[in-house]
Amino acid sequence: MCPADVAAAPGTIFGGCHCGNLRYTFAWPLPEAPTLRVCGCDYCTRHGAAWTSHPEARLNLVVQTPGQLIAYRFGSATADFLACGCCGILTLAACAFEDGERAVVNANTFDSLDAATCPRIATDFDAEANDTAARLARRRRNWSPLARTPR
Ligand SMILES: [Zn+2]
Repeated sequence: MCPADVAAAPGTIFGGCHCGNLRYTFAWPLPEAPTLRVCGCDYCTRHGAAWTSHPEARLNLVVQTPGQLIAYRFGSATADFLACGCCGILTLAACAFEDGERAVVNANTFDSLDAATCPRIATDFDAEANDTAARLARRRRNWSPLARTPR
């Protein structure tokens, strides 16, 4: 494999839950692979979730059976942690803004890119626990625009 191949852009990343009920495309815009954020909160630690997003990386989610979609909220209750109600896999977290939803993807659900090859950083958002405005402003800056089918 030549170095140009190694440095090739991931392009559109495909992924989803285990059973296929939740499927997404993630239009990664950068030449380098996404950096994964390993959140240290109780919820993400229990899932082993590794999140990524980019404000220009469009996410398209298709839910085959909308009745089998778990939207779990906790803490500031400003994000829906979207897991499949059939196979149980935590796939995305979505946050609603007045101009649409933004989301982060759990890279462990990538099909077309091996998450083990992506760089990882540890994150801790405890400092935002009492500052929901700061939390929402960060998501607006960093999270990816999300379109869902069905809406
Ligand atoms: Zn599933």
